[in-house]
Amino acid sequence: MVVEKNIYYKAIGSEIDVFNQVYQLKLPLLLKGPTGTGKSRFVEFMASELDKKLITVSCHEETSSTDLIGRYIIKGAETVWIDGPLSLAVKNGYILYLDEIAEARPDVIVAIHSLTDHRRELFIDKLGETIKAHPDFLLVASFNPGYQKGFKELKPSTRQRFVALSFDYPAAKAEVEILVEETDISKDIAQKLVAIAGKIRNLTELGLTETVSTRLLVDAAKLIKNGLSKRLAVHVAIVEPLSDEQETLNALKDLCDLMI
Ligand code: ADP
Repeated sequence: MVVEKNIYYKAIGSEIDVFNQVYQLKLPLLLKGPTGTGKSRFVEFMASELDKKLITVSCHEETSSTDLIGRYIIKGAETVWIDGPLSLAVKNGYILYLDEIAEARPDVIVAIHSLTDHRRELFIDKLGETIKAHPDFLLVASFNPGYQKGFKELKPSTRQRFVALSFDYPAAKAEVEILVEETDISKDIAQKLVAIAGKIRNLTELGLTETVSTRLLVDAAKLIKNGLSKRLAVHVAIVEPLSDEQETLNALKDLCDLMI
């Protein structure tokens, strides 16, 4: 919840402009795209630029509206109400980032409905109260369309409550810059890592659920910078996280060894 300063974020398109506008108008924002493409970093950066507190909730299958809104807890002989992150953000005018919103239980979507339209209010059923959002409150959510294919979709009626921005793997030049900035690795090694990523991202025939993200490249670069051999760093940070099939792993490792 601390407002961090000096967060590095490399803009890829017009996302900073869009966020600034969305923030002025307080329109809910949906960030779509594969994991590790800078969505969370972007929200952290914008919160810091706007000097606003940010609360991030990483949603998972068990995330319920109670987790977000709040609950009574027993303290000694009393029961006391504890606000959840959503209520805190709504009351105090923070930015709330619901990471991977499609993972959460359906009642989470129901709970945020009245916050995503002109009403901008939150109904706390356990207290029987409706609270108006603070003028600075902003809801941001992320969603990974590819990976949830078939099962955890976001319903069109929910999607249409958000302004949406797409995130994808950056162009090679930008990705090299990110690696150098993030890890202080040499440009030459950064270029090699980015070339490896480009190659693997194009290998659609491998049928990988998720391919090489910028996050994996950053991890590999950090390990190399820290002294691990380049090939081993690529094996453990880039190749191994992608698959559990030995044949695929061997093929990818051979390919990478030729490139670094
Ligand atoms: P996501 O939220 O999309 O899963 P993250 O924001 O956690 O991804 O990004 C993963 C890592 O990749 C970040 O910690 C950062 O090191 C790096 N990264 C990706 N894109 C960018 C970018 N545009 N600018 C700076 N760093 C980035």
